Amino acid sequence: MEKGKFYFIKDSFYKLFKEEKLMKNKEIIDLKEHNRPCFYTYYDENTKIYWLIPISSKTEKYRKIYNYKMQKNKICDTIVFGNVLGYEKVFLIQNMFPIIQEFIQKEYKNKDNKSVAVTSILQKRIDEKAQKVLKLQRIGINLIFPDVLKMEEKLLEILKESKMNKVELEKIKEKALAEHIPIIMDDTLEVIEKLLEDKKIHRILEIGTAVGYSAICFSEFLEDGGNIDTIEREEERVIKARENIKKAEVEDKINIYFGDAVEILPTFEGKYDMIFIDAAKGKYPFFLSHALRLLSDDGIILADNVLYKGYVMSDYNKHKQRTAVRNLREYIKEVTENPDLETEILEVGDGLAVSIRKEDEII
Ligand code: SAH
Ligand code: MG
Repeated sequence: MEKGKFYFIKDSFYKLFKEEKLMKNKEIIDLKEHNRPCFYTYYDENTKIYWLIPISSKTEKYRKIYNYKMQKNKICDTIVFGNVLGYEKVFLIQNMFPIIQEFIQKEYKNKDNKSVAVTSILQKRIDEKAQKVLKLQRIGINLIFPDVLKMEEKLLEILKESKMNKVELEKIKEKALAEHIPIIMDDTLEVIEKLLEDKKIHRILEIGTAVGYSAICFSEFLEDGGNIDTIEREEERVIKARENIKKAEVEDKINIYFGDAVEILPTFEGKYDMIFIDAAKGKYPFFLSHALRLLSDDGIILADNVLYKGYVMSDYNKHKQRTAVRNLREYIKEVTENPDLETEILEVGDGLAVSIRKEDEII
């Protein structure tokens, strides 16, 4: 994240903080609901907490309030007007709030995919007012509507509980995306998190580490003392993955195996509660045969990219993709027809096949 830019917030943040006075995540513009961009004004190095300011398009409404305050007090530090993408917007310092990285959904970009920003003069004005208002809040003069200090406390608790360094994780993600490494997509991750909600995960097997991003994310799902075995055949990626895992401070939970999964998998033993297949698409049926051998009784097998940009479900396929498509189809056929498995193909990310073992029928 960068100061002076705008970000969208995940709905999960608003589920956690049901504060009535917290400005809603959605703003209605032209009768349509939009997620509200928030202006990132500063980062507290000590606490690892970001402070954001919601913006609003309702300039007329806030102009009235502003004028009233100016008449009455000759000063108004809680509302700032300014130009964003050529439109006048209101920066609602009175609604500023703390947040941590895991609740940031994405950056607000313009049509050309460039960061939306404000002029440095405006940025300075907002920053100054925000800092002043927060300072007052800390000594008991409450100009900010939601109880932001209580929110800050809760966020600090969450940071303390988290087993990994989320700020580093975000850097790892951004770097991987910039280098076009096909890391797991946000929506896929969210779905997996929900699927695992009432499962106890002690051991995870991953095929396809890349730079370790998904493994680092999965490490949050582990029970205490749990661990992840992950396989990667490209040496350069293994080296990067090791670095990243260290940066994220989860090196005690993740073992990377360097080599071809086709050779390594047959040497693995024991049972895994979750198996994530995310490597050469042409090998999925082979990976499945081992996944079935290595799956615990109530384990779950997840296969990423099974819809392969839509190719798997379409008739036309370029020569280059043909083997991958054939094998992905074979994988889907096997998991859906296997009488021991219950499978769903979800259209999240690039397609996720979710398979669990059917429970034994009670006679
Ligand atoms: N799971 C990662 C992304 C994996 S991308 C994440 O979401 O962050 C797929 C990776 O699998 C690539 O890095 C590729 O080098 C690796 N791979 C492909 N086929 C493989 C094989 N047969 N054995 C081991 N690794 C393989
Ligand atoms: Mg993938």
